[in-house]
Amino acid sequence: MTVALPASLDPARLAHLALPLHRGSGGSGEIEVRMPFTGAVLTRLPETSVEQVGEAARIARAAQKSWAASAVASRAAVLQRWHDAVLGAADDLCDVVQAESGKSRRDAFEEVADVANTLRYYGLVAERMLEPKRRHGVLPLLTRTVELRHPHGLVGVISPWNYPLTLAAGDAIAALVAGNAVLHKPDSRTALTTLMVRELALGAGLPAGVWQVVVGDGAVVGPAVVGLSDHVVFTGSTATGRIVAEQAGRRLIGADLELGGKNPMIVCADASLARAVEGAVRGAFSSAGQLCLSIERIYVHRSVAGEFTARFAAAARKVKLGAAFGYRYDMGSLVGPAQLAKVQAHVDDAVARGASVLAGGAPRTGLGPYFFEPTVLTGVPSTATCFATETFGPVVSVYPVDTDEEAIAAANASEFGLNAAVYSRSVRHARAIAERLEAGTVNINEPYAAAWGSVDAPMGGVKASGIGRRHGRDGLLAHTWAQTIAAQRLWPVGEHGPLRGRVYQRLMTAGLKTLKGLRRP
Ligand code: NAD
Repeated sequence: MTVALPASLDPARLAHLALPLHRGSGGSGEIEVRMPFTGAVLTRLPETSVEQVGEAARIARAAQKSWAASAVASRAAVLQRWHDAVLGAADDLCDVVQAESGKSRRDAFEEVADVANTLRYYGLVAERMLEPKRRHGVLPLLTRTVELRHPHGLVGVISPWNYPLTLAAGDAIAALVAGNAVLHKPDSRTALTTLMVRELALGAGLPAGVWQVVVGDGAVVGPAVVGLSDHVVFTGSTATGRIVAEQAGRRLIGADLELGGKNPMIVCADASLARAVEGAVRGAFSSAGQLCLSIERIYVHRSVAGEFTARFAAAARKVKLGAAFGYRYDMGSLVGPAQLAKVQAHVDDAVARGASVLAGGAPRTGLGPYFFEPTVLTGVPSTATCFATETFGPVVSVYPVDTDEEAIAAANASEFGLNAAVYSRSVRHARAIAERLEAGTVNINEPYAAAWGSVDAPMGGVKASGIGRRHGRDGLLAHTWAQTIAAQRLWPVGEHGPLRGRVYQRLMTAGLKTLKGLRRP
C-alpha cells in the first residue's frame, strides 16, 4: 500500500519543521514518526533529553518576561493574525494532520476550523477578561478592591496524538494570550503538527522563545515538563492523568486534566431518526472514534430502537474508508498497531460474550495496516470490556431502553463524565434530560461539536474524565493566578478610636444587616 506524500511534506520541509527541536548536544536519540496510512516512516525527530527540557524551560522563562509585560491587546493581535495564517495554511495543516494521525481530510479540517475558532474567540475577548476588575470592598465607599490576573509564568502542556492540532494549539493559545510561556510536549507521533502551527504563530508575531516544544518518551519527558512548570494542562488517558495530578500535587502547582470518556447518546421516542442516525455516525466514527468526545454507547427508546438500529447499521456500512490526502473518504485509519489490537480485542471480547455485530467488526488491512471498520454492536453484556471501558475506536454499542429514567440511569452508570448527546424533537424535553446527565458537556441533536465548538462556554469532564475546564472565561483564567488588592480609605476595617468593644460590635452588626437588606453582595 503506497500513498503519495503531498508536496507540502517533502523531506526538506519536514526537516525544516523539526529544526526547533534541535537543542545543541546531549540529545538522547531519534524518534521514528510513522504514517498510519501505510506504516512507513514519515521522518525522524531528535529526541529531547531531560537536560534539554531544562534548557527549553530556561529559554521559555527568559522570553516570558517581556511577553507578559506586553499589552494584552498586542498579544491578542498576534492571535488575530495567527487566525488568518491558520486558515491560509489550511491545506498544509490538513496534510500534516493526516500524515501523522491517519485521519480523513474532513476530520483534519475540523481541527483547522476549531483552532481558528479558538483564536478568533480569545483574540477578541482576552483583553476584557484579563483586565483588572473592581470588586465589592468590605466597607462600602471606604474599601476599594480590585482583582488582578497574573500569568503563572511557565505552563506545561502535554497533549495526545488523536487531535494533534486542536489539542496542541487550543491550550497553548489560552496560556500564551494570558502572558505565559509554554513548555509543550506533544505526543511524539504527532509533533510535526505542533511544530507547523507554532511556525504559523511565530509568523504572526509570537516571540520564538515563549513556545518551546520537546519530544520523547512520555514517561521520561512528561514528568520533566511537569517538574519544571508553574501550571500544567494535560490531555490524555485517565491513567496518565492520575500520574500527572500526583506529581503536580506534590509540587503544589495547578493541573487541568482533560481525560477519557465513555460517552452516551440518548435517542428519545420523539427524536428525528434521520438526525439521530447522522449524529450517531459522526459521533461514533469521527477520527475513527479516536475522539475523547466520541459516542460509544447509545440508549434508544424501545419504540424506535428497531428502526433506529437498522438505519444506523446501514449508515455505518456506507461510511467510506480509505487513505487519501483529499476528501475522497469519510473515515481514515487508526493511529497504529496498539490501537488496532485494542479495538479488535474489544470487539472479539464482546462477541465472545454474546454480542451481535450489526455492522463492521473487522480490520480492513487491504486499505492500510491499521484500518478498522465502523462497528455497531447490540446485545453487549455488562461483562464485556467495551460495556464500560473506553475503546477509543470506531466501535459503538446500542442498547434499547423503556423510559427516559432508564436511559439517564444507564448513561450515568459510568466512571466517566465527559460528553453526552440527547436526541429529541422537543428541546425542552432533551434539556430536562441533559440537566440530569453527569457529563461536562451535553449536546442536543448533535453528537459533540455544538458544545465543543461553543468556545465561549467551559468544556471539560467530571468524575474520571478530568478536572478543570478549557474554553471560555474559565479556560483563560485557569492560566492565571488571582491577586486581590484592597485599598482602605479614611477609616480602618477593625476597631478604631471610640468604636471599640460592644460599640464596634453593634455598629458592625447593624452594618452587616443593612448590607443584606440592601442586597449588596
Ligand atoms: P496518554 O495518556 O497515553 O498520552 C497522552 C500524553 O501524555 C502523551 O503526550 C504522552 O506522551 C504523555 N505521557 C505519557 N506518560 C506520561 C507521564 N508519565 N507523565 C506525563 N506525560 C505522559 O493518552 P493517549 O492514549 O495518547 O490519548 C488517548 C486518551 O486521551 C484517551 O483516553 C482519550 O479519551 C484522552 N483524550 C481526552 C481528551 C479530552 O479533552 N478529555 C481529548 C483527547 C484525548
